[in-house]
Amino acid sequence: MTDTTPRLPLASSTGAKKRLFLRSWGCQMNVYDSGRMADVLAPLGYAPVDAPEGADMVILNTCHIREKATEKLFSELGRLRLLKEEREAGGGEMVLAVAGCVAQAEGAEIVARAPYVDIVLGPQSYHKLPEMVARAGRAAGAVIETEFPVEEKFDHLPDAAAPQGVTAFLTIQEGCDKFCSFCVVPYTRGSEYSRPAAAVLAEARRMVAQGTRELSLLGQNVNAYHGEGPDGSEWGLARLLYALAEIPGLDRLRYTTSHPRDMDEALIAAHRDIPAVMPFLHLPVQSGSDRVLEAMNRGHTAEHYLRLVDRLREARPDLALSTDIIAGHPGEKEEDHEATMALIRRVGFASAFSFKYSVRPGTPAAGAPFRVDEATKDRRLQEVQALLRDQQAEFNASKAGQTVPILFTGLGRRPGQLSGRTPWLQPVHAMGDSSLVGRIAPVRILAGHPYSLHGEIEPETQQEKNAA
Ligand code: SF4
Repeated sequence: MTDTTPRLPLASSTGAKKRLFLRSWGCQMNVYDSGRMADVLAPLGYAPVDAPEGADMVILNTCHIREKATEKLFSELGRLRLLKEEREAGGGEMVLAVAGCVAQAEGAEIVARAPYVDIVLGPQSYHKLPEMVARAGRAAGAVIETEFPVEEKFDHLPDAAAPQGVTAFLTIQEGCDKFCSFCVVPYTRGSEYSRPAAAVLAEARRMVAQGTRELSLLGQNVNAYHGEGPDGSEWGLARLLYALAEIPGLDRLRYTTSHPRDMDEALIAAHRDIPAVMPFLHLPVQSGSDRVLEAMNRGHTAEHYLRLVDRLREARPDLALSTDIIAGHPGEKEEDHEATMALIRRVGFASAFSFKYSVRPGTPAAGAPFRVDEATKDRRLQEVQALLRDQQAEFNASKAGQTVPILFTGLGRRPGQLSGRTPWLQPVHAMGDSSLVGRIAPVRILAGHPYSLHGEIEPETQQEKNAA
């Protein structure tokens, strides 16, 4: 599990009485969910701290996507058990909660193997946390909530309390009905649900009022969004993007993760017609072989994906793409791997996530025959990654010499340095005045490194700031 613990305002800076330590693994949606759990607990006096030692409550927000997620959770729980016992020996208490997709999938096992856990809650139950904390105080044994009433969650979560920052995430859709052979999401997050457009727009307006300039809309199948519009009609993602783009001060829009099957004409046109929709799209393909795509139950072919890429680039010629690739899905032969390499060469990705296939218990691929041996999977993954790395380096290098609008998101590591993002999501560093944080300024890119860019702010912008 990748640690994606969000940076939240700390208890010591807010004067709150109860200390909440939240560790988050996995995707951006988990980061967003962790923020909402902190929001929902704030009225009870909990505020985030940056270490579990001395915390009154610890929440582990888990991710089931990576291999051995459950084992990693239990080893973390073993460490926390000692802290909990220490705290209780000193007369204090530490409520220990496991949230997220592992909690959803393995709730019973968690309770059996780690009886000192007080709360187990699935992703659709975060709004019930305050009630569960109260029940945990009274109950002997763990309090468990792993139902799927996703509408209820969004109806009951409070408005986002803490400012989310210059760039922020907003969940608009959850769940998935696609059942790809390798994926646990349909089993842990339930079926597709889209939040009503009015609720999304209201949350976006609040975030912008608190300083957000760039919003990434989140959903496991975000482009399958079909929320109820304010007039009662059904809105697709394109319609929502047009409405969001009208919010004054909201300069940049992104959305992730998309499925090729849900990339409709209206959405392609939105990339052409809405300047705020950034020219960068994460569009997972997983494999370049039709045989493997079928075994994966992806519902699209390589040709369909390539045609989609062409249409998107016609609509928005400067569009850059990223993707997900799985190496070594059961049944993948050498020619399938070659087809994947050919597709990557043909598209030319600006960035990508690539993984070796690993078994997720309970998914169709877990029981599939014709497993690819580990050494072959390793070799294929290395080949895929070497190609993707070259493409990313080439894409970054291609920006050198260009002047690019950069949204400055914070201070860099070095004194006087700012960090920001290009429209294509590349991190950029440049020396500049800290008052530029939260603003978009033209930056001349001096060098494109494999993972980031280095540039200098156009002199007029800096002079304007100095004169102001
Ligand atoms: S579409 Fe995405 S979330 Fe849904 S099953 Fe496939 S990989 Fe998982």
